[in-house]
Amino acid sequence: MNERADMPAARAPIDRLPWVGTTIFSVMSALAARHGAINLGQGFPDFDCDPALHRAVTDAMRAGHNQYAPMPGVLPLRERIAEKTAALYGHRYDVEQEITVTAGATQAIMAAVLALSGPGDEVIVLEPCYDSYQPSIDLAGASAVRVPLDAARNYAVDWDRVHAAITPRTRLLIVNFPHNPTGQVLDAADLAALEAIVERSGITVLSDEVYEHILFDGRAHQGVARSPLLASRSVLVSSFGKTFHATGWKIGYVCAPAALSAMIRKVHQFMVFSVSTPMQHALASYLEDPKPYLDLPAFYQRKRDRFLAALAGSRFRLLPSRGTYFVLADYSEISREPEDVFVRWLIERHGVAAIPVCAFYREAFDNRVVRFCFAKRDETLDAASGKLAAI
Ligand code: PMP
Ligand code: GLN
Repeated sequence: MNERADMPAARAPIDRLPWVGTTIFSVMSALAARHGAINLGQGFPDFDCDPALHRAVTDAMRAGHNQYAPMPGVLPLRERIAEKTAALYGHRYDVEQEITVTAGATQAIMAAVLALSGPGDEVIVLEPCYDSYQPSIDLAGASAVRVPLDAARNYAVDWDRVHAAITPRTRLLIVNFPHNPTGQVLDAADLAALEAIVERSGITVLSDEVYEHILFDGRAHQGVARSPLLASRSVLVSSFGKTFHATGWKIGYVCAPAALSAMIRKVHQFMVFSVSTPMQHALASYLEDPKPYLDLPAFYQRKRDRFLAALAGSRFRLLPSRGTYFVLADYSEISREPEDVFVRWLIERHGVAAIPVCAFYREAFDNRVVRFCFAKRDETLDAASGKLAAI
């Protein structure tokens, strides 16, 4: 309809996230494509998932699993999630009340934050942190309190600082280990420190464990489901995207005690109601065999080591990557430019895309460190490291 002269001027739309633009991952992937650069920026594999998964989803569609899934997810998938979590970490979540399948971890996080925090509440995040946390907190109307990881100690958590940041208004503490972007992981002492904080303060932990199956050098994942106390006070978020090389499937899940799950499901049912039925069935059948996720550490450790070895003599200083499929690289020997300028130069002049770590901070920050993703075919890693080593 055309506007009439007597119509009042359009009311300005409200901008709920005024400080937000397009995510750094989309920006860098678009820039990489425009310049034909090798994309070690956005975190996704450049190889396909197991053909058995293609077959499983086709089978599910042919079997008629094409209508709405139950709101919390199809039962076989929730059962497999309960079994996997119990087998690996010792805590068994209740299939009926404590497990909810979501549209990836991103939606799980948004649903949990919206459900469990609101105006007047504080939510603690450890910086640098994944880029969806702060917008989730903002949309909930809560305030983010940022506690820095200790960059001088390879981004270890300073639990005293976390404890000191807790106030009577603190509702949630968001943690993410193995950690994007730093590759840092928790050890048993960290988990004990987190336990002590929860015990003393009564806050709820939102633990983003999407890289739970990608730890290196024999380390075991220290997640909240390993501790009965933490399991009873935490929201555990994970996703099949990283685990099964299928980031485009966007199927994740959230495990939490029944009272918290009930709140999260209220939000979840009006965000998406439920997520892709055939894919849930496919994942349920694929999860019957633990081998694919148990093989993941060796698979990615080999890629990490290949990339590290190729860059060993370069002017990049690679920081320890103990988990995830990311490694940070300090470029201060190469350039004094800030990270966002450096990554553009790297794409335009050298044909390799990376993510500036400043994108994981809310306020301007510059350590001259970029993140590379090594979830790539060996040929891709070799081609990229060849270019990077020549700088
Ligand atoms: N949390 C972290 C730490 C991530 O790295 C990602 C994606 N790479 C997500 C959440 C989102 O996962 P999903 O793609 O399943 O939404
Ligand atoms: N989590 C991925 C990363 O850190 C990107 C996900 C996305 O593009 N939204 O690179």
